[in-house]
Amino acid sequence: MVNIQNLIDDAKCFETVRALRWSDGIFCPHCGSARLIKRGFDDTQPDRQRYRCHGCARDFDDLTGTVLAGHHQPLRVWILCLYFMGLNLSNRQIAQELGLNKDDAQHMTTHLRQGLVAQQEPAGLDGVVECDEVYIVAGHKGHPTAVKKKDEQDDATDSKAVEDGAP
Ligand SMILES: [Zn+2]
Repeated sequence: MVNIQNLIDDAKCFETVRALRWSDGIFCPHCGSARLIKRGFDDTQPDRQRYRCHGCARDFDDLTGTVLAGHHQPLRVWILCLYFMGLNLSNRQIAQELGLNKDDAQHMTTHLRQGLVAQQEPAGLDGVVECDEVYIVAGHKGHPTAVKKKDEQDDATDSKAVEDGAP
């Protein structure tokens, strides 16, 4: 059986992320400065570019502050997951193709619907967290209208929940 993960090139995956994330130029995810230098590559992921910000003197890399950083899955699994979502595969099918359990696949597709490189809040949730029809406002810098829309949806969901809960 052909395993698609063996056909995917990590370098291309990072190229894809850079093209998406830095489409308006590279900037520091900590302070927003565009004054930076490239600073080699990650020790364990040779295609992951590192940078140092001249604004706040902190380091970051291609994945810093995104859902793609700090997860157990390699980047190519995320990219493939995104590809399968584009083909309208179900979470179950995606899990099967990528050798994941269904919960992991669902977790990933939920994140990816917010965008491949959507900014995440630095404080993360730990352990098993289950959410259903809950909007989490995370990393809304520069997107006040998107946040406003989500808040309105939250209100709608809340009031519906109250109605449903009434005897
Ligand atoms: Zn900075």
